[in-house]
Amino acid sequence: MRTKQVLNGLSPYVPGKTIEEVKEAYGLEKITKLASNENPFGFSDRVKEGLQQSIEHLEIYPDGYSRELRNVLSSRLDVHEKQLIFGNGSDEIMQIICRAYLEPGTNTVMATPTFPQYRHNALIEGAEVREVPLVDGTHDLQEMLNQVDELTRVVWICNPNNPTGTMINQHQFNDFMAKCPEDVLVVMDEAYVEYVTDIDFPDALADLSKYPNMIITRTFSKAYGLAALRIGYGIASEALIASLEPAREPFNTNALAQKAAIYALEDDAFIEKTNTRTKHTKDKLVAFCKEKGLDYYPSETNFLLVHLPVTGDEMTEYLLQNGFIVRSGEALGIPNSIRLTIGSEEQMDEIMAIMNNKLVESKQV
Ligand SMILES: *Cc1c(COP(=O)(O)O)cnc(C)c1O
Repeated sequence: MRTKQVLNGLSPYVPGKTIEEVKEAYGLEKITKLASNENPFGFSDRVKEGLQQSIEHLEIYPDGYSRELRNVLSSRLDVHEKQLIFGNGSDEIMQIICRAYLEPGTNTVMATPTFPQYRHNALIEGAEVREVPLVDGTHDLQEMLNQVDELTRVVWICNPNNPTGTMINQHQFNDFMAKCPEDVLVVMDEAYVEYVTDIDFPDALADLSKYPNMIITRTFSKAYGLAALRIGYGIASEALIASLEPAREPFNTNALAQKAAIYALEDDAFIEKTNTRTKHTKDKLVAFCKEKGLDYYPSETNFLLVHLPVTGDEMTEYLLQNGFIVRSGEALGIPNSIRLTIGSEEQMDEIMAIMNNKLVESKQV
């Protein structure tokens, strides 16, 4: 048997270690995972109660058009129903975009490091991937524009960017969109938009009508805490959404996920509470970094990329031994750093104390 040639050079996604794996390997009782930017406060009670009543008719296919959720979300976002597309996580929206727009002979432009699924899916479609290094942890939009040519089909902007947490502002966004050719699809990945507090964050949604070549992707996996259910969505002009629909599987989002998303949207207080607590704890972590002289990227998300005087792998291993799973910067393409999800205050107090021990220890050698 022979796969597509490009697959020989691609590795499957390696998920962070699971809590069970770490417990076993390190003989620990309690493990805290701060590696995947999940919500440490769980998800809304409204979802929990609602879902229990929704477990019926599992023998019936889900609504392939997600009508109910589409209704709720379109009025909430003040867009037409035909301006939405739903995916099995926003990951799937990215896959659909690549399937619909990329093929051998085309190219796609993105930052590096950024969310890895853009590159992965683009390569599977046989497109050339043009990666533009971040500058100070932020998209180098001018250089990204320089990389765009007549064979460019898609440009990816992760805003705020994962793994750095930084954002592009309204002015940079306006400028980029004005200069980007209108026949190039621009993906604004707003997976962390619910966490953003900077008033200079671009309101891409408000500008949607100006840019028929832009799609905004969002997800219920992060602030809404529904990562297990896999549901995300894209917002764009009707024509752009219509261009993607043939590349979408008919029943790609499941019935329970559609219900859960509706319930989640009924509980704004949960998002507010998540935000207040995240901000408070992030401020504490930032203060810790300042005190210890550790550089970090200013983050508009629920994670922080912290630079270290030791390798990311070394710190990650030390934290594992002490019951915390984080993401090593080496794995993310930013050596000598770690990416920490902002956990509960208690979790962060604990991890800061452990990091401090490692920092003190490393100074003594
Ligand atoms: C987590 C994440 C996603 C994927 O979210 P799903 O909806 O769970 O697939 C997309 N983009 C970025 C930048 C993320 O960090």
